[in-house]
Amino acid sequence: MPNPNYYSYITGFRGSRKLKIGEFTFTRNKATGLKTYWSCARAGAHKCKARVVTVEDRDVIVKCSQHNHPPY
Ligand SMILES: [Zn+2]
Repeated sequence: MPNPNYYSYITGFRGSRKLKIGEFTFTRNKATGLKTYWSCARAGAHKCKARVVTVEDRDVIVKCSQHNHPPY
C-alpha cells in the first residue's frame, strides 16, 4: 500500500486537471469557494465510492478511501 498522503496534480487530455493520490487517480467534481471535490476516476465504471476534498490545492481531506477496484 503506497503512502496515502502522497498526492500530485496532473493534467490529463484536453487540459482536464486530475489529482493523483498514491496509485489512484481522481477527477474533479466541483469547486465551491476554497474547496474542490474529487471523485475516483473509476467511479463511473466501477461505482467506486472513494472521494477526496482538497482545500486551496494544499490540504487533502480523504472522505472515503475505499476503492473497490485495483489501482490504475
Ligand atoms: Zn476508486
